[in-house]
Amino acid sequence: MFNIVIFGAPGSGKGTQSDKLIEEYGLYHISTGEVLRDHIARGTELGKIADSYISQGQLIPDDLMIKVLEHVLDNTPEAEKGVIFDGFPRTIPQAKALKEMLSRHGSKVHAVVGLEVDDKELVDRLLKRGQMSGRSDDNLDTITRRLNVYHSQTSPLRDYYKEEGKYHAIPGSGEIDSIFSDIKTRLDAIKEDK
Ligand code: AMP
Repeated sequence: MFNIVIFGAPGSGKGTQSDKLIEEYGLYHISTGEVLRDHIARGTELGKIADSYISQGQLIPDDLMIKVLEHVLDNTPEAEKGVIFDGFPRTIPQAKALKEMLSRHGSKVHAVVGLEVDDKELVDRLLKRGQMSGRSDDNLDTITRRLNVYHSQTSPLRDYYKEEGKYHAIPGSGEIDSIFSDIKTRLDAIKEDK
């Protein structure tokens, strides 16, 4: 099992780079944002709760979010070959829960790929994406709130994973393919080390 966390602010390119990583390493992709949007589209109880937070640019509470991820991990046999976690963890308690969950499966987070992009570019990208995606949270007001939430609640995870020696900072501006090639160089070195 080779597990990667793809980390970064909203709009930093996590989804785009995840698609390329899946192809390259044959990993299973878990995007908690996508899991929640699927529940919203199906009108489930969880979807109703999630919608009330997502549309406000707030995080879903840790307890609930951890249960959701645990359910996905425990019910997805394909996850055994390794997972790209996209959008999880977003808080320190989530990172601690992920560590415990993976250790129950006899595994761990091998690397955290941190896509680093400045706020101005993030806002431009998210506004553009909003015009095409129709996502309820890709409007200026919600984008600003999501970035604030990122800086206050999620970015402390960089230090958390730096202390574990797992954080790999990748400049996330520029060409998609050259960013991917940076990521691949880092990950290949880690895989060889294993
Ligand atoms: P994303 O698609 O990763 O940008 O996620 C969209 C929204 O889903 C976020 O702004 C949060 O409201 C919610 N969400 C996704 N993942 C998490 C998580 N790990 N913890 C809390 N909320 C989350």
